[in-house]
Amino acid sequence: MKLPTVTFFGSAASPEQFPRDGLPEVAFLGRSNVGKSSLLNALAGVKGLARVSSSPGRTRLVNFFRLGNDFYLADLPGYGYARVGEAMRRGWEGLVNSYLGGRDALALCVFPTESDETLAAYLDHHRLPYVLAATKADHLGRGEVLRRRANLERGLGRKARAVLAVSATTGSGVKELWRTIRASVASRGES
Ligand code: GDP
Repeated sequence: MKLPTVTFFGSAASPEQFPRDGLPEVAFLGRSNVGKSSLLNALAGVKGLARVSSSPGRTRLVNFFRLGNDFYLADLPGYGYARVGEAMRRGWEGLVNSYLGGRDALALCVFPTESDETLAAYLDHHRLPYVLAATKADHLGRGEVLRRRANLERGLGRKARAVLAVSATTGSGVKELWRTIRASVASRGES
């Protein structure tokens, strides 16, 4: 599959720093350690991508990657770090809320996790379309993948588009996720 060139566009600490050119955006969000960075790397085929996102100082920012002239991937701050203080956690939440709460360019949220009902409820509340990526699928047998998929699908809200089992390690499911992202970008505004 031919990928557009991926370039690091920049990091935003506040909404004024989000891109302004109106290209569609696909947001990645989720708790830390669910495999978000690895999935971003696998999708973009660029090893350094997640390193940019996880470099010190950038973990609290929204990091934007531009895919050719087509769209942006927006890597939102991870959350659920047990060791950060309350003030820092609120700061991240504020930035994530200001992004998710009013982003016309947002075509799709990709949400890598096994189960995170709070985030799913939040995305439903804001009527944001999302795909659940059940990450690290290589760790699981086929039966377990199907079982998790069924669990996730049962809990899905109104705007969920799909549940995909993906592995950054083996690459399984990555093409399927790309197709879903492309379709959402192409149909933005039609849903
Ligand atoms: P993030 O904090 O959500 O960005 O998570 P990372 O991408 O840094 O991954 C967290 C841990 O899970 C790392 O040790 C990765 O090597 C591992 N990991 C991520 N994706 C996969 C996967 O598809 N398969 C396996 N087996 N391990 C993975």
